[in-house]
Amino acid sequence: MLRWGMIGASTIGREWMAAAIAAQPDAEVAAVAGSDPERAQRYARELGIAKAHAFVTDLLADPEIDIVYISTTNESHAAHTLAAARAGKHVLCEKPLALRVEDARAMVGACQAAGVVLGTNHHLRNAATHRAMRDLIASGAIGQPLAARVFHAVSLPPHLRGWRIDRPEAGGGVILDITVHDADTLRFVLGDEVESVTAMTASQGMGMSGIEDAAMGVMRFRNGTLAQFHDAFTVGHAPTGFEVHGTEGSLFGRDVMTQRPTGTVTLRRNGEEEAIPLEHENLYERSVRRFNAAVRGEGPPPATGDDGVRSLAIALAARDAAQTGHAQDVSC
Ligand code: NDP
Repeated sequence: MLRWGMIGASTIGREWMAAAIAAQPDAEVAAVAGSDPERAQRYARELGIAKAHAFVTDLLADPEIDIVYISTTNESHAAHTLAAARAGKHVLCEKPLALRVEDARAMVGACQAAGVVLGTNHHLRNAATHRAMRDLIASGAIGQPLAARVFHAVSLPPHLRGWRIDRPEAGGGVILDITVHDADTLRFVLGDEVESVTAMTASQGMGMSGIEDAAMGVMRFRNGTLAQFHDAFTVGHAPTGFEVHGTEGSLFGRDVMTQRPTGTVTLRRNGEEEAIPLEHENLYERSVRRFNAAVRGEGPPPATGDDGVRSLAIALAARDAAQTGHAQDVSC
C-alpha cells in the first residue's frame, strides 16, 4: 500500500482528492495536517482519515507516510514541498506550484536531488476530452493547428469566495486559479510551448484588494499557433469550451473545462461533423492512479513538476502583460 498524507485541510481534498486516493486499490489516506490542529482533527473525523497530526512537521516525520498531497493556499506550496523533499516524501502539489517561477524551479530541483517524484495536480490532462483532442491533433486529424480558443469563464462557487478574491498574498485571482490551467491544457493538447503572452484583466465586482476576477488574452506558441483565453469568476451562464482550428479541420470541446468527467468533442472537416467517442473517468482518480504508478517507477505523473513550472511562468507572464500593457515573453 502507498500511504498518503494530506497537507492542508482543504475543500479540494474534501470534495475530490481524499476520495480519489481512497478509490485506489493500492493506496490510502493515512494522515492529515494543517495550520490548525483542531480543524485537522475535525477534518480527519469527517473524512474517515486515521490520523490527524498537530503540525505539518509531525506528518513529514511520520515514517508511515510515502506521499504527500499539498493543497494549502498557494503561497505555502513551495515551503511545504521543500520540507517534504527533505523528509524523503513524494509530492503531488496543487497548482500553481508557487507564486514565483524561481520558487517553482527550486521545488523541482529539491525533489530531483531527494530522488522523490514531484507532480502538479493539473487535473484537466486527465480528462478523456482533452486526451482525445491531443491524440487527434498528434495523428494529424486537423492538419497544422492555427488557432485555439479556451472558454473558462465561470461563476466562482460561493463557498470558494475566500482567499481567491481577497488575498493577493495567498496567490488569489483568476490568473493563478484558472489561466494557469488553460496554459497547461493548451501545452498538453497542442504538444507545443508558449513563447509570448498578452492579456487584459478586470475586477468586475468579486475581486477585492486589486485582485482580478476576469482575464482575456492571447498566447502565441512556438509553431505559430495563436490561443485565445477568457477566464472569469464572474460569469454565471456560459458553457466552457476548448476549440482548436487547423489547416484540415476543427475540434470543438464543449463543457470540458471542468472538474467533472463530462463534455463532448466534435471533429469537423470536409463539411462533415463527427462526435468523438469518449470513455469518461474521474479526473482526480486518474491523476492519483498515474501518480502512484510514477512512484512505482512506471513513467512520469500526468503533469510533472516541470509542467507546473511552465504553466506558472505562462500565467505570471499573462499577469505581467495585463499590468504593463505589453506582451511578455515566456522563458523557462
Ligand atoms: P481551501 O480554502 O478550502 O483550503 C486551503 C487552505 O485553507 C487549507 O489548507 C486550510 O489550511 C485553510 N482552510 C480551509 N478551511 C478553513 C477554514 N474554515 N478556516 C480557516 N482556514 C481554512 O482551498 P481550496 O481547496 O479551494 O484550494 C486549495 C488548493 O488547491 C489551492 O492551491 C488551489 O489552487 C488548488 N485547487 C486545485 C484544483 C484542481 O482541480 N487542481 C481545484 C481547487 C483548488 P490548513 O489546513 O493548512 O490549516
